[in-house]
Amino acid sequence: MIFHIITLFPEMFDSYLNESIVARARKSKKITVKFYNPRDFTKDKHRRIDGSPYGGGPGMVMQAEPILRAVQKARGKKKRVKTYLLSPNGKEFTNKVARSLISSYTDIILIAGRYEGVDARVKKILRAEEISVGPYVLTGGELPAMVIIDAVARQIKGVLHAAESVEEERVASAETYTRPETVTFKGKKYKVPKVLLSGNHKKIEEWRKERRSR
Ligand code: SAM
Repeated sequence: MIFHIITLFPEMFDSYLNESIVARARKSKKITVKFYNPRDFTKDKHRRIDGSPYGGGPGMVMQAEPILRAVQKARGKKKRVKTYLLSPNGKEFTNKVARSLISSYTDIILIAGRYEGVDARVKKILRAEEISVGPYVLTGGELPAMVIIDAVARQIKGVLHAAESVEEERVASAETYTRPETVTFKGKKYKVPKVLLSGNHKKIEEWRKERRSR
């Protein structure tokens, strides 16, 4: 899977994408992440990429043209490309969406907005779908893009090792505990649920199923 990130702040991705499972997925070429800075696609001599909103209002809006050129470059002649505009008003991103992307596309373009967002014509011209990582407003689309890269990568076969895959099933579904058996905090004792110490795997699985969140 190739991710193409349209962002004014590509450096923001450095530390996250260079650690842990995502870094391993990049190293083994299960995923590739490419960056396109709209400033590199502006024809303005000051490399300006924003303007004040028509009709008035607070803040600035990202201009359409540099983003359109950046996306054109990312798309090239590729056929199975999905283009998303990151937006708090978009469809909710879920593991189900992540899996369907893997089965349908080779490339995902993520447009990270900033300021008051992106000129509305970008969505229309590119037939981009708006996608949200949650019902809250963040300062920019960079964190949402990293969330999507991480969640999609975890669903790609071979990215998680066998033990981690099992863990994925369980962590998504249950409370987890580790040593010590009893944690004492401010004079109170907090014990591991007895069923987890029972050695009865059938009962443990049943207990975990009950706590499954999705
Ligand atoms: N008033 C704008 C709106 O409702 O879209 C808020 C823009 S927000 C400050 C700047 C950018 O952050 C957005 O254009 C979007 O790309 C990104 N963003 C913020 N919250 C997001 C969320 N929950 N999911 C996805 N992207 C988000």
